[in-house]
Amino acid sequence: MEKKYLFSPGPTMLPPEVLLKMAEPIMHHREPEFEKIFAEIREGLKYLFQTKNEVLVFTSSGTGAMEGAVSNILSRGDKALVIRGGKFGERWGEVCKAYGIEFIPIDVEWGKAVEPESIRKALESDPAIRAVYTQASETSTGVRHPIREIAEIVNRYEDKVIVVDAITGIGVFDIPMDQWGIDVVVSGSQKALMLPPGLAFASLSEKAWRLVERSNLPKFYFDFKKELKSTKKNQSSYTPAISLFVGLRESLNMIRKEGLEPLFRRHEKLAKATREAAKALGLGLYAPDSPSNAVTAVKIPEGIDGERLKDLFFERFGITVAEGQDRAKGKIIRIAHLGYYGRLDMVMVISALEMLLKEMGHRFELGTGVRRLEEVLMEF
Ligand SMILES: *Cc1c(COP(=O)(O)O)cnc(C)c1O
Repeated sequence: MEKKYLFSPGPTMLPPEVLLKMAEPIMHHREPEFEKIFAEIREGLKYLFQTKNEVLVFTSSGTGAMEGAVSNILSRGDKALVIRGGKFGERWGEVCKAYGIEFIPIDVEWGKAVEPESIRKALESDPAIRAVYTQASETSTGVRHPIREIAEIVNRYEDKVIVVDAITGIGVFDIPMDQWGIDVVVSGSQKALMLPPGLAFASLSEKAWRLVERSNLPKFYFDFKKELKSTKKNQSSYTPAISLFVGLRESLNMIRKEGLEPLFRRHEKLAKATREAAKALGLGLYAPDSPSNAVTAVKIPEGIDGERLKDLFFERFGITVAEGQDRAKGKIIRIAHLGYYGRLDMVMVISALEMLLKEMGHRFELGTGVRRLEEVLMEF
């Protein structure tokens, strides 16, 4: 028998409730029945994003919403400030480049969070900067950036916005969009939303919508203004991924039933226990100072082949974890705990980690990590 488990930071494991809904016969997206589902989704997304603004839904992976957050917000001649502390930060720069937008990078050492002060200085020194692009949770390094502090800085300007890729932040930790004055939040379906890949989300503040009004960059499918009009009629502009929408209604219902506070706390608990277990095994953390509760990046100990460790997770146990990318390749493995994950899931993955490390010659006493994990889980 081969049972498989995803511990990758997207796609993630899915609840049977959602899977069953998505297996139902497909309906037509211009029927009243679908409009009713759409209306429920609008409400559920506003709850999840903690906003009064509409949350637009696109049929694409998360990057589609990132692209839209450049092509709809900026205009020719605008500059962007891009926080680059990992693969996804780099992606903001790549999207800007594709649209001919000059961007100023703030390069942050991988594994570290950005210093808000560096953003304040950059905005002061260059008035052409129109938007600050960042991640809430930089999935490639397991870092959480200080969004609240960055938003405070950007909010001092009438004509500048903060755009947050919260693809592994929304539904994991508290990012109250309206309360913190975040102008654009984008997310995707295959992380904490407990869905397969295929949907991207974007929500905009009034300030951001004013920039959309004047934006003159080319756009077609990811046309936010057009999509907003359709959304208000409980429609999507083009054929949506209907089964994913049906699944989304279910996952949003599950999130609402759990409640945001308990949801954030569950993620905090799983993340903290995972970090502590890794430390107990003598492993370092890649993002010790500002870790994201979405994913834990664990350093591979000296003398152990990181790629082999990742492969063995799957070969021996059917478990998918993520390896490091680019400069972190071979140096870390990333264990995700966002979305449909509970305490005993973490017992499983830490137990597998122990058995593999033992096999590969790391010196420690079997059970040390699981024991620490259990201790932390019981403290909450
Ligand atoms: C997963 C992810 C994305 C989007 O990637 P897609 O493959 O396009 O869905 C973007 N940013 C972050 C931080 C992510 O974790």
